[in-house]
Amino acid sequence: MKNKILQVLTKYWGYDSFREFQEEAIMSIMESNDTLTILPTGGGKSVCFQVPAMLLEGTSVVISPLVSLMKDQVDFLKDIGIEAEFFNSTLTVVQAREVSAKISSGSVKLLYISPERLMADWMLAILKQIRVSNFVIDEAHCISQWGHDFRAEYRQLSTIKKVFPGVKVHAFTATATEEVKKDILSQLKLEKPHIYIGKVDRPNLTFRMSEREGNGHKQIIETLKLHEKEAGIIYCLKRADVESISDFLNSKGYENRPYHAGLPDAERKKNQEAFLSEKVSIIVATIAFGMGIDRSNIRFVIHAAMPKSVEHYQQETGRAGRDGLPSYCYLLFSGADYRTWEYIFQKSFSGQSAHKKLGEMYNFSNVPVCRHRYLSEYFAQNYPKPNCNACDFCLDEVGTLADSGKFAKSIVEGVFGVEERFGAEHIANLLVGNITEGIEKWGHNTLPFCGSLKSESKKAVRSMIDQLIAQRYLRRTGDYFTLSVTDEGLKILSGEVNPKLTRVLEKEKKAEIKKKQKLALESDYANMEVGLFESLKSLRRVLADKKHMPAYIVCSDRTLKELAERKPKTEVELRTIFGIGEAKIRDYGDIFLSAIKAYEEKTTNLVI
Ligand code: ADP
Ligand code: ZN
Repeated sequence: MKNKILQVLTKYWGYDSFREFQEEAIMSIMESNDTLTILPTGGGKSVCFQVPAMLLEGTSVVISPLVSLMKDQVDFLKDIGIEAEFFNSTLTVVQAREVSAKISSGSVKLLYISPERLMADWMLAILKQIRVSNFVIDEAHCISQWGHDFRAEYRQLSTIKKVFPGVKVHAFTATATEEVKKDILSQLKLEKPHIYIGKVDRPNLTFRMSEREGNGHKQIIETLKLHEKEAGIIYCLKRADVESISDFLNSKGYENRPYHAGLPDAERKKNQEAFLSEKVSIIVATIAFGMGIDRSNIRFVIHAAMPKSVEHYQQETGRAGRDGLPSYCYLLFSGADYRTWEYIFQKSFSGQSAHKKLGEMYNFSNVPVCRHRYLSEYFAQNYPKPNCNACDFCLDEVGTLADSGKFAKSIVEGVFGVEERFGAEHIANLLVGNITEGIEKWGHNTLPFCGSLKSESKKAVRSMIDQLIAQRYLRRTGDYFTLSVTDEGLKILSGEVNPKLTRVLEKEKKAEIKKKQKLALESDYANMEVGLFESLKSLRRVLADKKHMPAYIVCSDRTLKELAERKPKTEVELRTIFGIGEAKIRDYGDIFLSAIKAYEEKTTNLVI
């Protein structure tokens, strides 16, 4: 059986091995167990139910909340030679009739359907007449109110087991906390389910976090310079920021489209479409953008401001690098973001847990630790590697202070020394010896520790204070954001704990790091002929346009990269390329081979 599933994977998809838990999940489905599979974005969930659908008798019914995605998925499946259809509100009456006829005939191997359409009596009647091999609940977390994307329609899915007794149900999701997991299991009434939980870590993502300077525009441009010709998302906290960053970048020649819920529907859709069809490489958006974005070659995600929770951060950065190629996530954060979110929470009466999650995100941004480790541990998983080689901390890009303990102690002394009645700005001024009116008024200039950190800039001290808050040694409370010392913070005074702090990097050091980053990025393309890669990319666009499909459905960047690296000359060689299965050979094999040949001839002629 294992051989057989691998054969199917190679024949249709052109992949030669399974990713973590794919084989287990597929076997469990083949052996008729209910299953719950939790794999991160890009982990390859679809294959887990698509492969069994090809091997089992009958139709596999896939319930998905994302109407926009169904067409892409089905286009992709058809393009690799699989009988798939979708059924949702976007079909015209004629199309709906055609698809229903196909379903009734039993020829459809994979049927993507929205929960509303599935639950229509006539659809249930059709499905009862044919052989349904199983039900797949994609994005299963939508069934839980504890999750971040609750969909009321998903609640109806709890009747599947009653309506189709004996038919197995398989749930898939990328994010499931313990509560969500329990909800999925009980709502769907899974019987003796096999449960597979993959690692949340995404080793192909590199994480970098820095404090935002001013409006961050300069930092964004610097980052975009690292990623010329690549695709990325820039996330903003507010609609106004989307507008201003988008305008600014367009004016600087970085063509992009804005996306937020305040734009008219048609415009928003058009902008999303432009990004998905690769007509434009950059989209500037609020978090309204993303659900159901399947473009697999997103090479970078920039957060122009801090998201409100680590869960959001993980989900948004997760949109990068679904094809498994190296991809980069940059966070620009500031204490101001923290306060903006607090303000939003106050207005929307958000509960304690929202504040707690915000604090954790702020902590994550501020604490100098391995980002991969932090993320894994946040989601209660071990991270065994001592150095991930894929975050600013492990790549030695953050300036950790050698004498952090000394600085921390001075700051805590300062907070204590003014009886925990003043805010960060006042304390920072006091410690660097910047005598303001307020400091004079309170007579704080006579305190022994006034100016105890005068070798530092005020900005550096503010940043250290933020870091101590993030690490929970200090607390910020009340309307005036007064600082006080926590129990943990007291241990700094006694020397029991020694927190790590970072320093804002100097210009020269920053420039040096940027150079290193650029070199490292270039090495992602080192083994291939870049000109050939670009010309294959254009070719892919033409092929995709002809079929009215997004380019990444014709084939992924990873396939193009391998083509540009290995330059196959024959069909046999072409078959060994990642992502090239039988249908791709049939439809595009000659086209790719001739394009490579033509490119080779052209470049050799140039050399001669
Ligand atoms: P998810 O739904 O878990 O986010 P997808 O199913 O969209 O992930 O898969 C992510 C990407 O990984 C897709 O481009 C898919 O074709 C690719 N992929 C899936 N399984 C494998 C595999 N075994 N080998 C190589 N690539 C794979
Ligand atoms: Zn690391």
